[in-house]
Amino acid sequence: MLSVNSTPQDSLSQPLRKISGGNGAKRPINLGAAAGCAFDGAKVVLQPISDVAHLVHAPLACEGNSWDNRGAASSGSRLWRTSFTTDLTELEILMGHSERKLFEAICEIKKDHAPAAIFVYATCVPAMIGDDIVAVCRSATEEFAIPVVPVNAPGFLGAKKLGNRLAGQALFDHVIGTVEPEDCGPHDINILGEFNISGEFWLVKPLLDTLGIRVRACIPGDARYLQVASAHRARATMVVCSSALINLAQKMEERWDIPFFEGSFYGISGTSNALRRIAGLLVENGADAELLDRAEALISVEENRAWKRLEIYRAGLKGKRVLLNTGGVKSWSLVHALLEIGMEIVATSVKKSTDDDRGRIKQVLKEECHLHDSIAPSRLYSTLTGGKADIMLSGGRTQFIALEAKVPWLDINQERRHAYAGYEGMLQLVRQTYLAIHNPIWTELREPAPWEQHRDANIREHGEREPDQIPLQFGH
Ligand code: SF4
Repeated sequence: MLSVNSTPQDSLSQPLRKISGGNGAKRPINLGAAAGCAFDGAKVVLQPISDVAHLVHAPLACEGNSWDNRGAASSGSRLWRTSFTTDLTELEILMGHSERKLFEAICEIKKDHAPAAIFVYATCVPAMIGDDIVAVCRSATEEFAIPVVPVNAPGFLGAKKLGNRLAGQALFDHVIGTVEPEDCGPHDINILGEFNISGEFWLVKPLLDTLGIRVRACIPGDARYLQVASAHRARATMVVCSSALINLAQKMEERWDIPFFEGSFYGISGTSNALRRIAGLLVENGADAELLDRAEALISVEENRAWKRLEIYRAGLKGKRVLLNTGGVKSWSLVHALLEIGMEIVATSVKKSTDDDRGRIKQVLKEECHLHDSIAPSRLYSTLTGGKADIMLSGGRTQFIALEAKVPWLDINQERRHAYAGYEGMLQLVRQTYLAIHNPIWTELREPAPWEQHRDANIREHGEREPDQIPLQFGH
């Protein structure tokens, strides 16, 4: 097992590791690649920390590849959406000026933007020429009196998933525990791996507020540097996207004794279970036991309200068949949410899912034939054109397969426009699915085009001929 002082080298030398979940169970984490490089994976995880300047030490292309590729939302600072890069050139690399350029870039950002902190991302080129970004960050921290945090995840180290873990390592090594909050309490929690896509965590936070549960740090969605720096004083942690920051949760449990569990805010029972587990862990760690009763009372009220509002969609969705092409935590949490409203799952992709994710899907779906490591585009197309699914839920990259097959499609990945978390989010997911399936455009699209109707009529009247031998007919 990796220790709390693990380095990227340790991560590389142990492609499989055993970690313990909140219940002490051991399981392997597969670090295999899904897509992207390690730098990309680290940037994806850290960039939503919104009052931080994210400085990419690289030639220009690295930042161009990674900038803001998720729809995370911030309630405050917009600084995180500004792109900073040292834009290394061949001359600076050959002349050995890259470290100096990095230091000057940090100085410029501090002067012009006064960020809460600066995260400096190592990439392939500076790593290969031996730039010591840790030393540069250390001397910049002393010189400019702001935290300058090295994120040591150059792309060649491995895949995006490894980068996710290295991002957690950077927070653990350089950020979390560096600020002591003055307002610790028995109801403080951390949420790890929640990206606040389209602001969906804002649909969940009011529930926690009602219970008097304070989110000390939601990492990374809508996070502030100081919240992350004081996250070590939380009493419990919920890990939302299990593959991204579970190593951080495990290390925080080791060092600061903060118990964690993996959960999801998708679906009605998913949200209720998450609230129950959070309340349970807080009570185990010193909160008053009446929190459990208040949680149950809130769950009862919210579930009743949600089911009443969902009722109008039930008849229109019951028995409709879904092809789910996503991954990670969504592969099981969305399956559960869709089954709750009476839909059927034709197949789900588990390409980016952990072994735990797969286990949960098997529990819900029972039939393994619905699980696919990766569904090839041709397979998606043939499933859709073969009439085996009424809708496909996936990311933007595969939307055109559904559109080509003239089958409804709904975006459920990081670029989506709608928030699907919590009870309100479930209502939105069901409503959007309903609207997509029952949109009248699909009936029209599947009808033969007017020119096809004329061609068919011509063939009936004149038999099969070359196009230039068929008399033209326009209109009716
Ligand atoms: S693989 Fe290296 S060069 Fe390419 S984007 Fe990632 S960090 Fe940059």
